[in-house]
Amino acid sequence: MKKVYFKAINSYSKTEEISDAAGKLLKKVVEEEHISLEKFIPLKVHFGEKGNNTFIQSKNFTGIINYLKENNIDSAFIETNVLYRGERTTREKHLKLAKDHGFTELPIIIADGEHGEDFEEVEINKKNFSKCKVGKEVANKKQLIVLSHFKGHILAGFGGAIKQLGMGCASRGGKLAQHANSVPKINFFKCKGCSACAKKCPQNAIIVNRKARINKDKCVGCASCMAICPQGAIYHSWLGSMTKSFNERLAEYAYAAAKGKNHIYITFAFNITKNCDCEGHDMKPIAKDIGVFASTDPVAIDKACLDILDKNSGRVVFKRGRYTLDYGEKIGLGSKEYELVEID
Ligand code: SF4
Ligand code: SF4
Repeated sequence: MKKVYFKAINSYSKTEEISDAAGKLLKKVVEEEHISLEKFIPLKVHFGEKGNNTFIQSKNFTGIINYLKENNIDSAFIETNVLYRGERTTREKHLKLAKDHGFTELPIIIADGEHGEDFEEVEINKKNFSKCKVGKEVANKKQLIVLSHFKGHILAGFGGAIKQLGMGCASRGGKLAQHANSVPKINFFKCKGCSACAKKCPQNAIIVNRKARINKDKCVGCASCMAICPQGAIYHSWLGSMTKSFNERLAEYAYAAAKGKNHIYITFAFNITKNCDCEGHDMKPIAKDIGVFASTDPVAIDKACLDILDKNSGRVVFKRGRYTLDYGEKIGLGSKEYELVEID
């Protein structure tokens, strides 16, 4: 049975305690699970969309960074570009936002390049995908420390380690594929025929004849064109995303990002909002703060977060999305059975 290590902390305002606990939990999981550490281990984070004020701030990660330094391990913050248009759509904007949000303690790697064009296809041969587009700089690392914020998510139901792995490590095209529309669409009313998308497309799949048109047979769904269009004319349809198969696709992408790796998962259950950190506006928590969790199993750590949330709340808080755990367990991503080990 997998172990999930846990430190209860009842307020996100206790930054020093949270940071200290996260460092101790990392040490505990490394020692108890006999994990060999790589010489360079990036920290997978979420910088929070501009205007969001409930993402987990980097000052909570100092204990983890210090532990790595003490063990002569180099690190960086690592993230991928997002699918929708915002302040994290391109590498340049992403780096600026990360710094504005205080992620200055380590260098920053945007794993899928300038616009999402850098990815590796990881073979998994599962029900929905035979291959997954994982951000290149994630795919070529042997080990990550996956730092997740536990909260709700409009499509996935809830977001934790699996979401951080599956959606968070996918290139922009991988994100598009998980949303079931691997070929973007063009709004002909918005398109000005500037050809910027056609010049960027790595497959020469876009033809511009006054208006742009995508050749579906050539398009590989990398989604770079969505980021580049100055008119915001290239989009994907959310139709079909809110289905059980979305949870399956998410779990399969998580499986791809973890395949053959030696990742460690640390989850921060604070600021538990209904929706996720990609939403660039003020949100209020819907449950009490819980604490910090660590494990080598992304399914077990998500299950532990949900179980304690429900127990503390006296009700089932995030009803949707629990199928992700069932399906994740079925495909070998991890185990729903776990032992909770509380640390002092
Ligand atoms: S970049 Fe946008 S506006 Fe320019 S041709 Fe492509 S779709 Fe049209
Ligand atoms: S049209 Fe080209 S740039 Fe756009 S998603 Fe398809 S392959 Fe990528």
